[in-house]
Amino acid sequence: MTEKIITWDARGEPVVPDNPIVSYIEGDGIGPDIWAAARPVFDAAVSQAYSRKRRIIWHELLAGEKARNVYGSGNPLPEKTFEDITRYGVAIKGPLSTPVGRGFRSLNVTLRQKLDLYACVRPVRYIPGVPAPVAHPERVNITIFRENTEDLYAGVEWEAGTEDARAVLEFINEKLKQAGRPGLSLESGVGIKPMSEFNSRRLVRRAIQYALENGYESVTLVHKGNIMKYTEGAFRDWGYGVARDEFPAQTVTEAELYENFNGDIPKGRIVIKDRIADSMFQQLLLRPEEYGVIAAPNLNGDYLSDAAAAQVGGLGMAPGANIGDRCALFEATHGTAPKYAGLDKVNPSSLILSGVEMFRFIGWVEVGDVIVQALTRTIAQGTVTYDLARQMERAREVKCSEFGAAIVENIVKL
Ligand code: NAP
Repeated sequence: MTEKIITWDARGEPVVPDNPIVSYIEGDGIGPDIWAAARPVFDAAVSQAYSRKRRIIWHELLAGEKARNVYGSGNPLPEKTFEDITRYGVAIKGPLSTPVGRGFRSLNVTLRQKLDLYACVRPVRYIPGVPAPVAHPERVNITIFRENTEDLYAGVEWEAGTEDARAVLEFINEKLKQAGRPGLSLESGVGIKPMSEFNSRRLVRRAIQYALENGYESVTLVHKGNIMKYTEGAFRDWGYGVARDEFPAQTVTEAELYENFNGDIPKGRIVIKDRIADSMFQQLLLRPEEYGVIAAPNLNGDYLSDAAAAQVGGLGMAPGANIGDRCALFEATHGTAPKYAGLDKVNPSSLILSGVEMFRFIGWVEVGDVIVQALTRTIAQGTVTYDLARQMERAREVKCSEFGAAIVENIVKL
């Protein structure tokens, strides 16, 4: 069996051979523990789903501490890592630590920006048996598409009291004066919130495509356009524009639904609606079943992703993906939890479920289904890591590696 490379077509979708090379980054802290538990699960699931017909060829990339050890202390993200992620098209990673202090850019943000991974995708689904803080976590089945490249994360800021901040404020005050509006305090810190039509539209386009391909009934544009009209409000307008211009036969707005279709969604279409961000948090708690895919600008998407994950049991179980038009990077959503590093203790589910998303993304849906079934069965058997055990009655607490092995055992029995 010769190994092959995943390529990407003009629509930004992967073209996958039966034996693709998939890159992985172990990550820092607990990264090696969770990767060691997750990889056998992935291999066992591929083998269970396709026997010998398909196989992943794993290819390690260096980043974080491992890269520093090889390339020197100043190089946690070597150029070869970027090149190989692009070359092999699909990668999966554990968490990477960002040293605290000035001058250190988050490695995760750098990866997303340099590789133009413009959509941060966070599916939020309940795994039966996982302790959750709400009465009906099973009513949540949403996927959040968060814009990943701009908004306040573009990092355009000036510190209060500096010469640059004052110069920017003086410029703004001149514009405000011309508009007859009161000026800003020259002692303020300043941050700029850029949001563009190009980036908003490509994010919403992916969200609509995903909703159509995965049987969701709606895409909700979440924004704070009542306050920030030319950024968040524009995001909403550009989002409706994508639906109208590019998917006229497959979408219907909420207003049209009631005006023309008596509130019944026409066959083959999805509903495009919008909600103000603060109301969306309430809606997710009170009426989660009314929402499928959510598309949001960067900051709102960040808040919503973690809040929604908490509703179904927390970040330890939450998968994540960063997707662009020429590569995709799947990742555990939690951090490096340094106090547990090397103890073989933590929950590998976030990374395992990120793998599920990766397999679904490359079209190996059966592999994802096998993993979810086996993971669900393992938790139902009460075999869990410390984080879930401390919230469950009659659980059998196992190590990180033992939890992975228990999932593999259940895969083989499916
Ligand atoms: P963290 O590493 O996520 O850990 C916070 C707490 O969350 C842990 O102490 C633990 O709680 C729980 N936790 C995290 N992962 C878990 C797992 N797999 N299983 C069970 N429990 C888990 O957050 P942090 O301490 O704020 O960040 C540490 C480092 O990670 C920082 O350097 C940060 O920059 C980095 N980070 C990286 C990423 C990424 O690579 N995507 C994301 C976030 C943070 P208990 O103590 O209650 O057991």
